Amino acid sequence: MKKIMAVNAGSSSLKFQLLEMPEEKLITTGIVERIGMKNSVFAISVNGKKQEEVLDIPDHAVAVSILLNKLIELKILASFDEISGVGHRVVHGGNKIAESLVLGDDEIAYLEEIVDLAPLHLIPNLTGIKAFKKVLPNVKHIGVFDTAFHHSMPEESYLYAVPYDWYERFQVRKYGFHGTSHKFVSARCAEIMGKKPEDCNIIIAHIGNGASICAVKQGHSIDTSMGFTPLDGIPMGTRSGAIDPAIIEYMMNKKNKSVKEITNYLNKQSGYIGVSGISSDSRDLVAAAAAGNHRADLAIEVQAKRIVDYIASYYVYMGGADAIVFTAGIGENAKTTRSNIINRLGALGIKMDEERNDCRGVERLISTDDSKVKVYVIPTNEEVMIARDTLALL
Ligand code: ADP
Repeated sequence: MKKIMAVNAGSSSLKFQLLEMPEEKLITTGIVERIGMKNSVFAISVNGKKQEEVLDIPDHAVAVSILLNKLIELKILASFDEISGVGHRVVHGGNKIAESLVLGDDEIAYLEEIVDLAPLHLIPNLTGIKAFKKVLPNVKHIGVFDTAFHHSMPEESYLYAVPYDWYERFQVRKYGFHGTSHKFVSARCAEIMGKKPEDCNIIIAHIGNGASICAVKQGHSIDTSMGFTPLDGIPMGTRSGAIDPAIIEYMMNKKNKSVKEITNYLNKQSGYIGVSGISSDSRDLVAAAAAGNHRADLAIEVQAKRIVDYIASYYVYMGGADAIVFTAGIGENAKTTRSNIINRLGALGIKMDEERNDCRGVERLISTDDSKVKVYVIPTNEEVMIARDTLALL
């Protein structure tokens, strides 16, 4: 039995889970928020009860020491030596990293080299890794990369039809994200169907605030909707998803804004919030649409249409599919969104069982027995996947 910490460091937050492996038993979970701001918050769940404290936490290194000392103080750990390994969620592994790996000096230097590919995420990820390494120097630190699962994509999927030297010299290509989730959910789906991953084709719809669709053929990602960055693909809570790139210059001229400002609109003021003008949260949109708000309804429909475009195209690309899986905040919880998507796939003989679909956050088959493709809800668990990969590399 080993205790493994799964860490997700953001720019001002640090989420963690301590798991007992290989049992995959959650020991504790928590979050440090508002790092570097006044009134930082440290929250931890002890025996299912949430404890919260307001503290001053100037940087990630302090957050890590406070968090580890709390584990001792709350008697969750007797000493730091009980932690066998730390698995760090890292958003980007660039062109080279195709699997989880031990984070030594060379690996960290490589991540620093590619920081431009995802500065908003990679910089805090690196800060978190360094802070943990400093406090736990004798423990192995493993990087688990959002992009790694998609390294199996063929050239025809990941290359953009732009001048080839953009790819060769500047690493412009599709990377894809949410890989840890797509890997976990597709493996679990194969298990539920009683098949080996290499014997099935699965389409995963990871729909949360961020959302991406993935075609998993015989256990490997062969295409996904997010691209060079997580802005591509389907519309999300605040992101536009794919648009005609010529819109950027056009709107720069119309609004007299910089590239940066327009990109900010596409990242922060688009998707659900952009179309509805109400909210980026799917619950608010579902409620507003039910009350007759046309733009809330439109925001949901625009997204559903694009999701169906991807699912149908991946179905054909893989030569058929055994299953479609819904996961993440919306995929796991929003039955009307799921129905709306599946009901548009009738031409492929895919049929939703509305009674089975009446569920939230549970693992369940939601298609009819005569549906040509099985449809499941499978809750994702990126932390367990991080802990599994960490354990494997210890
Ligand atoms: P991310 O991890 O990308 O930030 P999540 O996977 O946590 O996002 O998903 C957040 C989304 O899930 C929000 O839009 C939220 O409204 C939605 N969600 C959560 N619970 C429900 C629910 N019961 N019904 C509909 N949507 C829900």
